[in-house]
Amino acid sequence: MRGQIRRIPVQGNLPLTRLLREATTILTQAGCDTPRLDAELLLAEVLGCERGWLLAHPEAQVEEAQTERFCSLVERRAKREPLPYILGRAEFYGLTFKVDRRVLIPRPETELLVEKALEWISNRDAASSAPARDFTIADVGTGSGAIAVTLAVLLSKGAGTARAISPLIYALDSSSEALSVAQENARLHGVEGHIAFLQSHLLGALPEPVDLIVANLPYVPSRKLGSLMPEVAWEPQEALDGGPDGLEKIRALLHQAPSRLAEGGAILLEIGPGQAEKVKSLALESFPGAQVKAFRDYRGIERVMCIFWDKIPPSYVDHD
Ligand code: GLN
Repeated sequence: MRGQIRRIPVQGNLPLTRLLREATTILTQAGCDTPRLDAELLLAEVLGCERGWLLAHPEAQVEEAQTERFCSLVERRAKREPLPYILGRAEFYGLTFKVDRRVLIPRPETELLVEKALEWISNRDAASSAPARDFTIADVGTGSGAIAVTLAVLLSKGAGTARAISPLIYALDSSSEALSVAQENARLHGVEGHIAFLQSHLLGALPEPVDLIVANLPYVPSRKLGSLMPEVAWEPQEALDGGPDGLEKIRALLHQAPSRLAEGGAILLEIGPGQAEKVKSLALESFPGAQVKAFRDYRGIERVMCIFWDKIPPSYVDHD
């Protein structure tokens, strides 16, 4: 595909509809999934407007300098660079995160992990008389910080819980580059006071046992990495590569976890298709007698594995 990408002819002002049409053709030929939408989002970025404005003003003329900038963004997208890297941001749980090639782009299925974490924290908080701020969480392999920052934002607002919770969240990552992005995202959302950033191999640098461990670790089996969408090749492979069976990091985490999880705590892990049974048995090796339950994502894939160590929140017992 590289080198064969068609160019939009840039000369003088061009009508917006023509630009969108040409860009959509280029992105379709490049094999992008949502060519028209991507073209609209890129043009909205260049013009500094909402996507809706484009749709409402099909007759608008785009100046030459803007057209040139648009063309260079379309070229990047045609090389299958992910849209969030081109825009420098991604949406997660209704919040905007800064992203670049130092971090994995947050995925919608990871929102389920956050949802389950909030549910567990809320049940746990309702059942406890301890002051809310004693609550500790470790986000292992934090990447862009999407999970840690979202939890900090929502808990400190009391969203989904009976009272505002002021947790201490350890955001851990082996990559110092990822940690700087996560730190920037915490600052952007005003929650840097709730999060301690530590460079750490899995739970290695965690200074104390925590109530909740959440992790979206790499879980793609190495041999499958090459067959994913071309966009994924732009992302840090160490955030995706889970070794021969995809479970290298999850196995190591579950091995470390017994000494790092406080009594009555829980572990929530994002997992890949077909991994639930294996992860369940790994969890039970480390936490014999724990309640282990997988939740399905919007595509019906068992995506979030919850390991409740010794105390089961009532709402999880009876329903799926
Ligand atoms: N869901 C991601 C993907 O399929 C994988 C994320 C991960 O390995 N944690 O690209």
